[in-house]
Amino acid sequence: MLDLSIVCPIRSTEEGLEFYVLGHWFPEHKINLFLNKRYVTATGCHYSTLPNIMHKEYKVLAFRLNGKKINAKAHRLAWELFVGPIGEGMKICHNCDNPPCVHPQHLFEGTTLDNNADRSSKGRSNRKSINTEPKGPEYPEYIPQIESLHNRGFSQTEIADRLGIHQSLVSIYLRKYIK
Ligand SMILES: [Zn+2]
Repeated sequence: MLDLSIVCPIRSTEEGLEFYVLGHWFPEHKINLFLNKRYVTATGCHYSTLPNIMHKEYKVLAFRLNGKKINAKAHRLAWELFVGPIGEGMKICHNCDNPPCVHPQHLFEGTTLDNNADRSSKGRSNRKSINTEPKGPEYPEYIPQIESLHNRGFSQTEIADRLGIHQSLVSIYLRKYIK
């Protein structure tokens, strides 16, 4: 289950193979370190046992490369290793809500809004309180998110928590703009 095909560029040097991920040529032993520090959980996540990023739940592969400090977020590394290059300014978010997970199929490329939604679900952002009913969809950017979470079976409160908005807005949007 942990055997996934690597799709990033690979080159051969005098010191061995190097893998191009996150803007750097990573030596093979660092990639192997990342690969070997994974185990499959009961929920099918590929849990990384690399150290955490300070104050965060994400895992990091930290080392020096030609005197430069590299702090590669494990889930972003997994994406570039197994899926492809991350679009400029794009975030890699978790479907499984398990930040240490590096299973590429549990990850998706999202916008900052997706990432904020992910952050607020973990209580790390200020909740916006929107109590008044807007005339039109005042925050149209939330509609696809609300719809997608609703279709995945999340309750209004859970959707509100994940998006960092008030539950009443979720209720209004579901009633008025989402069929
Ligand atoms: Zn997962």
